Amino acid sequence: MALIVQKYGGSSVADAESIKRVAKRIVDTRRAGHDVVVAVSAMGDTTDELLDLAHEVAPIPAPRELDMLLSSGERISMALLAMAIHSMGFEARSFTGSQAGMITDSHHGKARIVDVTPVRLREALDEGAIVIVAGFQGFNRDTRDITTLGRGGSDTTAVALAAALKADVCEIYSDVDGIYTSDPRIIPRARKLDHVSSEEMLELAANGAKVLYIRAVEYARRHGVLIHARSSFSSAEGTYVLAEGMKNPRASEGAAMEEPIVAGVATDLSQAKITVVGVPDVPGKAAEIFKIVSKSGANVDMIVQNVSAASTGRTDISFTLPKADAPGTIKALAAEQSEVGFENLLHDDQIGKLSVVGAGMRTHSGVSEILFEALSAGGINIEMISTSEIRISVVLRGDDLAEAARTVHSAYGLDSEIEAVVHAGTGR
Ligand code: ADP
Ligand code: ASP
Ligand code: MG
Repeated sequence: MALIVQKYGGSSVADAESIKRVAKRIVDTRRAGHDVVVAVSAMGDTTDELLDLAHEVAPIPAPRELDMLLSSGERISMALLAMAIHSMGFEARSFTGSQAGMITDSHHGKARIVDVTPVRLREALDEGAIVIVAGFQGFNRDTRDITTLGRGGSDTTAVALAAALKADVCEIYSDVDGIYTSDPRIIPRARKLDHVSSEEMLELAANGAKVLYIRAVEYARRHGVLIHARSSFSSAEGTYVLAEGMKNPRASEGAAMEEPIVAGVATDLSQAKITVVGVPDVPGKAAEIFKIVSKSGANVDMIVQNVSAASTGRTDISFTLPKADAPGTIKALAAEQSEVGFENLLHDDQIGKLSVVGAGMRTHSGVSEILFEALSAGGINIEMISTSEIRISVVLRGDDLAEAARTVHSAYGLDSEIEAVVHAGTGR
């Protein structure tokens, strides 16, 4: 008998029928003799709809109230799921994040888990109940307020519960059969991975692959939680995310484990680019600019500085950041224009970022060459480039991103013979 944590995403519990289907899956796991703890997301696109609603009544909703509002989505699905399980003759008990002991810092909208005290969950398990926990939410002890963990945060709830309860596995169910070499909504020929390393998954998640939330992958790596990403719509085995030293539960003994050089291609349309034009090319200017940027709270990703024109002694500095951070950052920079001495500011929110990720890049050369050749053959212009040890990213026109991803995916020989199935969801 094992302890299994299962997380069901919004598309898996989008309506009453889906909730009953998920309830049956949970009951089947219980029938097989396992203890089951479930983290559940809000139904379908509920969180997005609540967010839209909030912005209809207030341009900038108060963070505390926004968390109160958004956390209600998961309360609905957890209670319905428990009811559906009852009607199948099994004992189930639902808990809010705060009842489940999900203790966070006080950072509304992006709270970090600081402690998990699942006393009530253990009691319920000991009494033979199936435990259902509202994902994405926690509680801060100092403010005594409800917090949320950031979009996609139910994944983190599940992993944190798995760590605290020492579960055997954390199964993350969504609308695709596992982790693919790229988003199957964009690349139907994406190939399902048997397993992926935590470090590769972190890079994929950080660069747009929302199939797993980056903080959940981080948490799992730190606490040694085995993640199995799979679909709630099929019985297909999914993808294991393996931290260093973890054994692939599916690997046959002694099988040679030659890893592919490239694990996957991630795409991201959520970033914008700001260019500071005509910056005096003297020491200290980059420091001044990025001090202002960081004060505005923006999370900068790529930075490029051009060679200065000899005739003017001025240069341009471009950087990318989340679209939502751009207006505030532009305002902050504009306010300091004469102080810093730059000429102009450009804002571009039509960019797309394509990233190629693979641990094999450490030991193999020629990976970037394939990327640049594929983009060149496709007539696609590159605007920025950045690299890490195991990733190469390029910024392109947003309109070119899907086509570029398909071309690059083929160029690395990642295309599968069969089309991937996206079972449900709106991709929102
Ligand atoms: P849930 O609502 O269950 O949390 P998400 O919508 O957050 O599910 O994540 C699943 C989606 O992630 C898929 O529908 C797919 O479009 C997207 N996705 C992006 N990159 C990948 C990838 N590499 N492999 C699988 N899915 C991916
Ligand atoms: N419901 C939340 C969201 O849509 C959390 C989650 O689904 O993981 O972001
Ligand atoms: Mg998700």
